[in-house]
Amino acid sequence: MSKRILVLPGDGIGPEIVAEAVKVLDRLGTDGLDIELDQGLVGGAAYDDHGTPLPEPTLAMARAADAVLLGAVGGPKWEPLDIALRPEKGLLGLRAELGLFSNLRPAILYPQLAGASSLRPEIVSGLDILIVRELTGGIYFGQPRGIRTLDDGQRQGFNTLVYSEREIERIVRSASEIAMRRDRRLCSVDKANVLECTELWREVATRVVETEFPQVELSHMYVDNAAMQLVRQPKQFDVMVTTNMFGDILSDAAAMLTGSIGMLPSASLNAKGQGMYEPIHGSAPDIAGQGVANPLATILSVAMMLRFSLDEPAMAARIEAAVEQVLDQGLRTPDILSDGMTRVGCEEMGDAVVRAL
Ligand code: NAD
Repeated sequence: MSKRILVLPGDGIGPEIVAEAVKVLDRLGTDGLDIELDQGLVGGAAYDDHGTPLPEPTLAMARAADAVLLGAVGGPKWEPLDIALRPEKGLLGLRAELGLFSNLRPAILYPQLAGASSLRPEIVSGLDILIVRELTGGIYFGQPRGIRTLDDGQRQGFNTLVYSEREIERIVRSASEIAMRRDRRLCSVDKANVLECTELWREVATRVVETEFPQVELSHMYVDNAAMQLVRQPKQFDVMVTTNMFGDILSDAAAMLTGSIGMLPSASLNAKGQGMYEPIHGSAPDIAGQGVANPLATILSVAMMLRFSLDEPAMAARIEAAVEQVLDQGLRTPDILSDGMTRVGCEEMGDAVVRAL
């Protein structure tokens, strides 16, 4: 039976980069990949049409899909809106409705782009790490939360960090399964010396890995040290697993080690293996409509989709090899351009990947 993929281009550069990723999917379709694509609205584009960033038809198609491919949402046009109607709520709504609790953020530095990193090439060249971030729990969702006025008239802001054993078990399990397909090294990041919630995290992580994944080598690291180690010696890591907030921060730091936000894909998975795949960057309103956006992060998101939701690892590897090949040919969108390389636009880059395939 063919697999259903919901394509959500979104806002800004979203439609430009997603168009190139769809070309790649179409190309693989001619090689036997059995897929059907649906297209929907999300974010600002959905608000303009339906008055909400996550319309019911989009949600229904997402629930029925094997995987969702998303461009990006947001832009200055929708910033004056009430927070509940902003484009970003469409994304958060999809994550929550599909139960996408496991966020996979690879940080890969292609040797061809080592000069783009702010770190010395010998420290980052060939970097290939994966951060698994818990996405639906922790301090971003914990209750109670808010801003209250104290008896003395001062206002006080408060949020709650909570993780149940079940939430910790499933994210550690998800990260361990991924580590099993890689170098089998998993580093769990917490702040167990200060926060009881992550003391439990450490205890549960140890139990899950020891009992269910004895082949995985587990280590623990405090988040402050992990931040330092990421910029000191990032290649020491294989897979890292951590809470929602720590993962938010560490995965952005890791992404920037690679120098270009336009190169990095991401995946968010639920317990059924259904996933949403998107570049880590936003809608880049500053370059939208100019045809200069880098589509490679979105194309590499398709590779993740093939690997994690469609069980087509060989096709995923073909896409990754095709991206390496266009980089070897010296083709560069402006965000990754360096001396002696050939400047191309979004469409030319997509076409080059299709040719390499
Ligand atoms: P951004 O990631 O959109 O852009 C940051 C910088 O990186 C910009 O200079 C942009 O031109 C550049 N850039 C991003 N993607 C690129 C690409 N593929 N090729 C070349 N250059 C690229 O972040 P921002 O400017 O902080 O946010 C813009 C909008 O995107 C905001 O509305 C924000 O809320 C939204 N946003 C959405 C997502 C998402 O949809 N997942 C994520 C982050 C931000």
